[in-house]
Amino acid sequence: MYIKKQRLLTPGPTPLYPPALHAMMDSDIHHRTEDFRNLYRSTLSALRQVMGTQGEILIMVASGTGLMDASVSNLFSKGDKVIVCSAGKFGERWVEIAKAYGLDVTVLKAEYGDRVSPERVAEALAAEPAIKGVFVQASETSTGAVHNVEAMGKAVAKTDAIFVVDAITGLGTMPLKIDEWGLDVVVGGSQKAFMIPPGIAFVSISRKAWKRTETADLPHYYFDFKKEAKSAANGESSWTPNTSLIIALNEALKYVQSIGMDKLIANAQQLAAATRAAAAALGLKLFAAASPGGAVTSICAPEGMDSGVIVKEFRNRFGAIIANGQGSMKGRIFRIAHLGYFDFADLFAVIAGLEIILNANGIPVKYGTGVAAAEQAYAEAAVEKRALKA
Ligand SMILES: *Cc1c(COP(=O)(O)O)cnc(C)c1O
Repeated sequence: MYIKKQRLLTPGPTPLYPPALHAMMDSDIHHRTEDFRNLYRSTLSALRQVMGTQGEILIMVASGTGLMDASVSNLFSKGDKVIVCSAGKFGERWVEIAKAYGLDVTVLKAEYGDRVSPERVAEALAAEPAIKGVFVQASETSTGAVHNVEAMGKAVAKTDAIFVVDAITGLGTMPLKIDEWGLDVVVGGSQKAFMIPPGIAFVSISRKAWKRTETADLPHYYFDFKKEAKSAANGESSWTPNTSLIIALNEALKYVQSIGMDKLIANAQQLAAATRAAAAALGLKLFAAASPGGAVTSICAPEGMDSGVIVKEFRNRFGAIIANGQGSMKGRIFRIAHLGYFDFADLFAVIAGLEIILNANGIPVKYGTGVAAAEQAYAEAAVEKRALKA
Protein backbone atom coordinates (compact mmCIF):
# COMPACT_ATOMS: atom_id res chain seq x y z
CA MET A 1 0.00 0.00 0.00
CA TYR A 2 2.41 2.59 -1.19
CA ILE A 3 0.15 5.15 -2.78
CA LYS A 4 -2.06 7.06 -0.43
CA LYS A 5 -4.19 9.82 -1.85
CA GLN A 6 -4.74 12.74 0.44
CA ARG A 7 -8.39 12.82 1.42
CA LEU A 8 -9.95 15.59 3.43
CA LEU A 9 -12.98 14.15 5.18
CA THR A 10 -13.55 16.72 7.91
CA PRO A 11 -16.59 18.96 8.43
CA GLY A 12 -14.57 21.99 7.37
CA PRO A 13 -12.38 22.42 5.52
CA THR A 14 -14.11 20.07 3.11
CA PRO A 15 -13.04 18.59 -0.26
CA LEU A 16 -12.62 21.24 -2.94
CA TYR A 17 -14.72 21.43 -6.09
CA PRO A 18 -12.04 21.11 -8.83
CA PRO A 19 -13.44 23.74 -11.27
CA ALA A 20 -13.50 26.25 -8.40
CA LEU A 21 -9.92 25.41 -7.57
CA HIS A 22 -8.87 25.85 -11.20
CA ALA A 23 -10.77 29.13 -11.48
CA MET A 24 -8.72 30.50 -8.58
CA MET A 25 -5.66 30.60 -10.82
CA ASP A 26 -7.37 33.41 -12.67
CA SER A 27 -7.04 35.70 -9.66
CA ASP A 28 -4.92 38.35 -11.36
CA ILE A 29 -7.78 40.80 -11.25
CA HIS A 30 -7.93 44.20 -9.55
CA HIS A 31 -10.78 44.73 -7.13
CA ARG A 32 -11.56 48.30 -8.26
CA THR A 33 -12.31 47.37 -11.86
CA GLU A 34 -15.49 46.66 -13.80
CA ASP A 35 -14.37 43.02 -14.22
CA PHE A 36 -14.31 42.59 -10.48
CA ARG A 37 -17.58 44.47 -9.94
CA ASN A 38 -19.32 42.13 -12.37
CA LEU A 39 -17.88 39.11 -10.62
CA TYR A 40 -18.80 40.43 -7.17
CA ARG A 41 -22.35 41.34 -8.15
CA SER A 42 -22.93 37.96 -9.72
CA THR A 43 -21.50 36.20 -6.66
CA LEU A 44 -23.71 38.19 -4.27
CA SER A 45 -26.75 37.50 -6.39
CA ALA A 46 -26.01 33.75 -6.66
CA LEU A 47 -25.51 33.61 -2.91
CA ARG A 48 -28.84 35.33 -2.36
CA GLN A 49 -30.54 32.85 -4.67
CA VAL A 50 -28.91 29.82 -3.04
CA MET A 51 -29.66 31.06 0.49
CA GLY A 52 -33.19 31.93 -0.60
CA THR A 53 -33.64 35.25 1.18
CA GLN A 54 -34.62 38.84 0.43
CA GLY A 55 -32.34 40.04 3.22
CA GLU A 56 -29.14 42.01 2.86
CA ILE A 57 -26.22 39.74 1.88
CA LEU A 58 -22.66 40.64 2.80
CA ILE A 59 -19.43 38.82 2.04
CA MET A 60 -16.34 39.52 4.11
CA VAL A 61 -12.78 38.32 4.38
CA ALA A 62 -12.68 36.09 7.44
CA SER A 63 -13.29 32.56 8.58
CA GLY A 64 -16.81 31.95 9.88
CA THR A 65 -15.99 33.18 13.36
CA GLY A 66 -15.22 36.64 11.96
CA LEU A 67 -18.83 37.12 10.94
CA MET A 68 -20.14 35.60 14.17
CA ASP A 69 -18.11 38.34 15.86
CA ALA A 70 -19.38 41.00 13.42
CA SER A 71 -22.98 39.96 13.97
CA VAL A 72 -22.56 40.81 17.63
CA SER A 73 -20.55 44.01 17.21
CA ASN A 74 -22.83 45.49 14.51
CA LEU A 75 -26.25 44.63 15.91
CA PHE A 76 -26.01 44.91 19.71
CA SER A 77 -25.23 47.44 22.39
CA LYS A 78 -23.25 47.15 25.58
CA GLY A 79 -25.20 45.40 28.32
CA ASP A 80 -27.91 44.05 26.01
CA LYS A 81 -29.60 40.97 27.42
CA VAL A 82 -29.27 37.99 25.11
CA ILE A 83 -29.94 34.26 25.16
CA VAL A 84 -27.41 31.78 23.82
CA CYS A 85 -28.47 28.20 23.09
CA SER A 86 -25.32 26.22 23.71
CA ALA A 87 -25.10 22.54 22.84
CA GLY A 88 -21.43 22.22 21.97
CA LYS A 89 -18.12 23.93 21.29
CA PHE A 90 -19.63 26.37 18.77
CA GLY A 91 -22.45 27.32 21.14
CA GLU A 92 -19.72 28.06 23.68
CA ARG A 93 -18.11 30.29 21.06
CA TRP A 94 -21.30 32.42 20.89
CA VAL A 95 -21.14 32.75 24.68
CA GLU A 96 -17.49 33.82 24.55
CA ILE A 97 -18.06 36.38 21.79
CA ALA A 98 -21.14 37.86 23.46
CA LYS A 99 -19.30 38.14 26.78
CA ALA A 100 -16.23 39.63 25.13
CA TYR A 101 -18.46 42.50 23.94
CA GLY A 102 -20.05 42.97 27.35
CA LEU A 103 -23.48 41.54 26.61
CA ASP A 104 -25.59 40.19 29.47
CA VAL A 105 -25.78 36.51 28.53
CA THR A 106 -28.27 33.89 29.65
CA VAL A 107 -27.07 30.47 28.54
CA LEU A 108 -29.57 27.74 27.73
CA LYS A 109 -27.28 24.75 27.88
CA ALA A 110 -27.74 21.24 26.54
CA GLU A 111 -25.37 18.36 27.19
CA TYR A 112 -22.97 17.57 24.34
CA GLY A 113 -24.84 15.43 21.82
CA ASP A 114 -28.20 16.82 22.89
CA ARG A 115 -29.94 20.03 21.79
CA VAL A 116 -31.82 22.97 23.23
CA SER A 117 -35.56 22.68 22.69
CA PRO A 118 -37.58 25.53 21.14
CA GLU A 119 -39.85 25.43 24.21
CA ARG A 120 -36.95 26.44 26.44
CA VAL A 121 -36.27 29.40 24.16
CA ALA A 122 -39.94 30.46 24.21
CA GLU A 123 -40.00 30.19 28.03
CA ALA A 124 -36.81 32.19 28.44
CA LEU A 125 -38.17 34.90 26.12
CA ALA A 126 -41.44 35.05 28.08
CA ALA A 127 -39.54 35.31 31.36
CA GLU A 128 -37.44 38.29 30.21
CA PRO A 129 -39.14 40.69 27.78
CA ALA A 130 -35.98 42.82 27.49
CA ILE A 131 -34.09 40.11 25.57
CA LYS A 132 -32.47 41.69 22.50
CA GLY A 133 -31.17 38.59 20.75
CA VAL A 134 -31.18 34.81 20.63
CA PHE A 135 -28.11 32.95 19.34
CA VAL A 136 -27.91 29.37 18.17
CA GLN A 137 -26.12 26.91 15.88
CA ALA A 138 -28.40 25.46 13.19
CA SER A 139 -25.95 22.56 13.04
CA GLU A 140 -23.60 22.11 16.01
CA THR A 141 -20.60 20.71 14.18
CA SER A 142 -18.79 19.60 17.33
CA THR A 143 -21.48 17.03 18.16
CA GLY A 144 -23.39 16.54 14.89
CA ALA A 145 -26.70 17.61 16.43
CA VAL A 146 -29.09 20.06 14.76
CA HIS A 147 -31.45 22.58 16.35
CA ASN A 148 -35.05 23.19 15.38
CA VAL A 149 -34.42 26.71 14.13
CA GLU A 150 -37.85 26.87 12.47
CA ALA A 151 -39.71 26.62 15.79
CA MET A 152 -37.17 28.82 17.55
CA GLY A 153 -37.37 31.45 14.82
CA LYS A 154 -41.13 31.60 15.04
CA ALA A 155 -40.91 32.11 18.82
CA VAL A 156 -38.30 34.86 18.49
CA ALA A 157 -40.29 36.56 15.71
CA LYS A 158 -43.06 37.38 18.22
CA THR A 159 -40.64 39.48 20.27
CA ASP A 160 -38.31 42.44 19.71
CA ALA A 161 -35.31 40.14 19.86
CA ILE A 162 -33.40 39.17 16.73
CA PHE A 163 -32.53 35.57 15.94
CA VAL A 164 -28.87 35.07 15.07
CA VAL A 165 -28.11 31.70 13.52
CA ASP A 166 -24.67 30.23 12.98
CA ALA A 167 -25.50 28.18 9.89
CA ILE A 168 -21.87 27.68 8.94
CA THR A 169 -22.50 23.94 8.58
CA GLY A 170 -26.30 24.31 8.42
CA LEU A 171 -26.31 25.89 4.96
CA GLY A 172 -26.39 23.17 2.33
CA THR A 173 -27.11 20.39 4.82
CA MET A 174 -30.59 21.22 6.13
CA PRO A 175 -33.52 23.26 4.82
CA LEU A 176 -33.33 26.84 6.11
CA LYS A 177 -36.25 29.06 5.10
CA ILE A 178 -34.54 32.20 6.21
CA ASP A 179 -37.34 34.74 5.67
CA GLU A 180 -40.29 32.47 6.44
CA TRP A 181 -38.85 31.15 9.70
CA GLY A 182 -37.57 34.49 10.99
CA LEU A 183 -33.86 33.70 10.82
CA ASP A 184 -32.78 37.33 11.12
CA VAL A 185 -29.06 36.80 10.82
CA VAL A 186 -27.60 33.73 9.10
CA VAL A 187 -23.85 33.24 9.04
CA GLY A 188 -22.10 30.99 6.51
CA GLY A 189 -18.51 30.14 5.65
CA SER A 190 -16.64 29.19 2.50
CA GLN A 191 -14.90 26.01 3.68
CA LYS A 192 -18.00 24.02 4.56
CA ALA A 193 -20.78 23.02 2.11
CA PHE A 194 -19.54 25.64 -0.38
CA MET A 195 -16.61 23.43 -1.39
CA ILE A 196 -13.86 26.08 -1.51
CA PRO A 197 -10.93 26.87 0.81
CA PRO A 198 -11.31 28.79 4.08
CA GLY A 199 -11.18 32.59 4.06
CA ILE A 200 -14.58 33.98 3.13
CA ALA A 201 -17.59 34.29 5.38
CA PHE A 202 -20.99 35.69 4.52
CA VAL A 203 -24.12 36.73 6.30
CA SER A 204 -27.76 37.45 5.50
CA ILE A 205 -29.46 40.15 7.54
CA SER A 206 -33.23 40.73 7.80
CA ARG A 207 -34.91 44.13 7.90
CA LYS A 208 -35.65 43.68 11.57
CA ALA A 209 -31.99 43.04 12.31
CA TRP A 210 -30.80 45.76 9.91
CA LYS A 211 -32.60 48.43 11.98
CA ARG A 212 -30.18 47.60 14.78
CA THR A 213 -27.29 48.96 12.75
CA GLU A 214 -28.73 52.43 13.47
CA THR A 215 -28.61 52.08 17.25
CA ALA A 216 -26.01 49.43 18.06
CA ASP A 217 -23.13 50.99 19.98
CA LEU A 218 -20.51 48.26 20.23
CA PRO A 219 -17.12 49.15 18.75
CA HIS A 220 -16.10 47.76 15.38
CA TYR A 221 -14.06 48.99 12.45
CA TYR A 222 -13.02 46.38 9.86
CA PHE A 223 -16.30 44.46 10.06
CA ASP A 224 -18.79 47.26 9.42
CA PHE A 225 -22.15 46.06 8.07
CA LYS A 226 -23.35 49.52 6.99
CA LYS A 227 -20.14 50.39 5.19
CA GLU A 228 -20.01 46.92 3.61
CA ALA A 229 -23.61 47.17 2.38
CA LYS A 230 -22.83 50.51 0.72
CA SER A 231 -19.79 49.02 -0.97
CA ALA A 232 -21.69 45.91 -2.04
CA ALA A 233 -24.38 48.07 -3.64
CA ASN A 234 -21.59 49.42 -5.85
CA GLY A 235 -20.31 45.93 -6.64
CA GLU A 236 -17.32 46.28 -4.37
CA SER A 237 -16.04 45.18 -1.01
CA SER A 238 -14.97 47.80 1.53
CA TRP A 239 -11.41 46.54 1.79
CA THR A 240 -9.21 44.48 -0.50
CA PRO A 241 -11.03 41.18 -0.83
CA ASN A 242 -9.48 37.73 -1.23
CA THR A 243 -10.19 37.91 -4.94
CA SER A 244 -9.17 34.31 -5.62
CA LEU A 245 -11.78 33.05 -3.18
CA ILE A 246 -14.50 35.26 -4.63
CA ILE A 247 -13.71 33.71 -8.02
CA ALA A 248 -13.84 30.25 -6.45
CA LEU A 249 -17.12 30.97 -4.68
CA ASN A 250 -18.64 32.24 -7.90
CA GLU A 251 -17.68 28.99 -9.63
CA ALA A 252 -18.89 26.77 -6.77
CA LEU A 253 -22.21 28.65 -6.60
CA LYS A 254 -22.76 27.97 -10.31
CA TYR A 255 -22.38 24.28 -9.52
CA VAL A 256 -24.76 24.47 -6.53
CA GLN A 257 -27.29 26.31 -8.69
CA SER A 258 -26.95 23.73 -11.45
CA ILE A 259 -27.83 20.84 -9.14
CA GLY A 260 -30.11 22.90 -6.89
CA MET A 261 -29.65 23.81 -3.22
CA ASP A 262 -32.36 21.28 -2.26
CA LYS A 263 -30.36 18.52 -3.95
CA LEU A 264 -27.16 19.59 -2.22
CA ILE A 265 -29.06 19.27 1.05
CA ALA A 266 -30.56 15.91 0.07
CA ASN A 267 -27.09 14.67 -0.88
CA ALA A 268 -25.68 15.44 2.57
CA GLN A 269 -28.73 14.02 4.31
CA GLN A 270 -28.63 10.76 2.34
CA LEU A 271 -24.93 10.32 3.10
CA ALA A 272 -25.66 10.98 6.76
CA ALA A 273 -28.51 8.45 6.82
CA ALA A 274 -26.29 5.84 5.14
CA THR A 275 -23.52 6.53 7.67
CA ARG A 276 -25.92 6.05 10.56
CA ALA A 277 -27.08 2.76 9.05
CA ALA A 278 -23.48 1.62 8.63
CA ALA A 279 -22.61 2.56 12.22
CA ALA A 280 -25.61 0.63 13.51
CA ALA A 281 -24.69 -2.42 11.42
CA LEU A 282 -21.18 -2.30 12.91
CA GLY A 283 -22.57 -2.07 16.43
CA LEU A 284 -21.26 1.47 16.92
CA LYS A 285 -23.22 4.04 18.92
CA LEU A 286 -24.17 7.41 17.50
CA PHE A 287 -23.23 10.39 19.65
CA ALA A 288 -26.05 12.83 18.77
CA ALA A 289 -28.61 10.06 18.38
CA ALA A 290 -31.70 12.18 19.17
CA SER A 291 -31.22 14.83 16.49
CA PRO A 292 -28.44 13.92 14.09
CA GLY A 293 -27.89 16.33 11.20
CA GLY A 294 -26.77 16.07 7.59
CA ALA A 295 -23.48 17.94 7.96
CA VAL A 296 -21.54 15.44 10.01
CA THR A 297 -22.14 12.17 11.83
CA SER A 298 -20.51 11.74 15.23
CA ILE A 299 -19.84 8.15 16.16
CA CYS A 300 -18.69 6.92 19.58
CA ALA A 301 -15.46 4.94 19.62
CA PRO A 302 -16.02 1.34 20.70
CA GLU A 303 -15.75 0.67 24.44
CA GLY A 304 -12.13 0.74 25.56
CA MET A 305 -10.80 2.37 22.39
CA ASP A 306 -9.63 5.96 22.00
CA SER A 307 -11.20 7.61 18.94
CA GLY A 308 -7.77 9.15 18.30
CA VAL A 309 -6.62 5.67 17.23
CA ILE A 310 -9.26 5.65 14.49
CA VAL A 311 -8.29 9.16 13.38
CA LYS A 312 -4.60 8.25 13.32
CA GLU A 313 -5.21 4.98 11.50
CA PHE A 314 -7.22 6.73 8.79
CA ARG A 315 -4.32 9.07 8.24
CA ASN A 316 -1.57 6.42 8.32
CA ARG A 317 -3.30 3.75 6.30
CA PHE A 318 -5.39 5.76 3.86
CA GLY A 319 -4.06 9.32 3.91
CA ALA A 320 -7.50 10.39 5.05
CA ILE A 321 -8.14 13.13 7.57
CA ILE A 322 -11.22 12.57 9.68
CA ALA A 323 -12.18 14.65 12.70
CA ASN A 324 -11.70 13.67 16.31
CA GLY A 325 -14.00 15.05 19.01
CA GLN A 326 -13.33 18.58 20.29
CA GLY A 327 -12.80 19.52 23.94
CA SER A 328 -13.99 16.84 26.36
CA MET A 329 -15.32 14.81 23.39
CA LYS A 330 -11.74 14.28 22.17
CA GLY A 331 -10.87 10.59 22.30
CA ARG A 332 -14.53 9.61 22.71
CA ILE A 333 -15.99 10.27 19.27
CA PHE A 334 -14.92 10.58 15.66
CA ARG A 335 -16.80 12.57 13.04
CA ILE A 336 -17.50 11.69 9.40
CA ALA A 337 -18.44 14.68 7.25
CA HIS A 338 -21.05 14.79 4.48
CA LEU A 339 -21.34 18.47 3.64
CA GLY A 340 -20.45 19.84 0.23
CA TYR A 341 -18.46 17.87 -2.32
CA PHE A 342 -18.91 14.32 -0.94
CA ASP A 343 -20.47 11.40 -2.74
CA PHE A 344 -21.39 7.80 -2.05
CA ALA A 345 -18.14 6.45 -3.50
CA ASP A 346 -16.33 8.49 -0.81
CA LEU A 347 -18.59 7.05 1.84
CA PHE A 348 -18.21 3.41 0.78
CA ALA A 349 -14.44 3.87 1.04
CA VAL A 350 -14.67 5.49 4.47
CA ILE A 351 -16.86 2.74 5.88
CA ALA A 352 -14.63 0.02 4.38
CA GLY A 353 -11.61 1.78 5.89
CA LEU A 354 -13.37 1.92 9.23
CA GLU A 355 -14.03 -1.84 9.15
CA ILE A 356 -10.35 -2.51 8.41
CA ILE A 357 -9.25 -0.20 11.22
CA LEU A 358 -11.63 -1.73 13.76
CA ASN A 359 -10.47 -5.25 12.92
CA ALA A 360 -6.82 -4.26 13.11
CA ASN A 361 -7.37 -2.78 16.56
CA GLY A 362 -9.07 -5.61 18.39
CA ILE A 363 -12.69 -4.84 17.50
CA PRO A 364 -13.75 -7.76 15.31
CA VAL A 365 -16.36 -6.88 12.69
CA LYS A 366 -17.25 -8.90 9.63
CA TYR A 367 -15.82 -7.21 6.54
CA GLY A 368 -18.55 -5.66 4.47
CA THR A 369 -21.15 -5.35 7.23
CA GLY A 370 -21.08 -1.56 7.36
CA VAL A 371 -20.50 -1.17 3.64
CA ALA A 372 -23.54 -3.37 2.92
CA ALA A 373 -25.71 -1.14 5.10
CA ALA A 374 -24.43 1.95 3.27
CA GLU A 375 -25.04 0.27 -0.10
CA GLN A 376 -28.57 -0.59 0.99
CA ALA A 377 -29.15 3.07 1.95
CA TYR A 378 -27.78 4.14 -1.42
CA ALA A 379 -30.10 1.73 -3.24
CA GLU A 380 -33.10 3.07 -1.35
CA ALA A 381 -32.14 6.68 -2.03
CA ALA A 382 -31.65 5.87 -5.73
CA VAL A 383 -35.09 4.24 -5.91
CA GLU A 384 -36.62 7.34 -4.32
CA LYS A 385 -34.86 9.48 -6.88
CA ARG A 386 -36.21 7.41 -9.77
CA ALA A 387 -39.70 7.57 -8.26
CA LEU A 388 -39.43 11.36 -8.08
CA LYS A 389 -38.44 11.55 -11.74
CA ALA A 390 -41.20 9.24 -12.96
C1 LIG B 1 -16.59 25.81 11.14
C2 LIG B 1 -17.60 26.39 12.05
C3 LIG B 1 -17.49 27.71 12.52
C4 LIG B 1 -16.44 28.67 12.11
O1 LIG B 1 -15.19 28.30 12.34
P1 LIG B 1 -14.02 29.09 11.59
O2 LIG B 1 -12.85 28.27 11.97
O3 LIG B 1 -13.99 30.45 12.11
O4 LIG B 1 -14.38 29.06 10.14
C5 LIG B 1 -18.49 28.20 13.33
N1 LIG B 1 -19.54 27.46 13.65
C6 LIG B 1 -19.70 26.21 13.22
C7 LIG B 1 -20.94 25.48 13.60
C8 LIG B 1 -18.74 25.64 12.39
O5 LIG B 1 -18.91 24.39 11.95
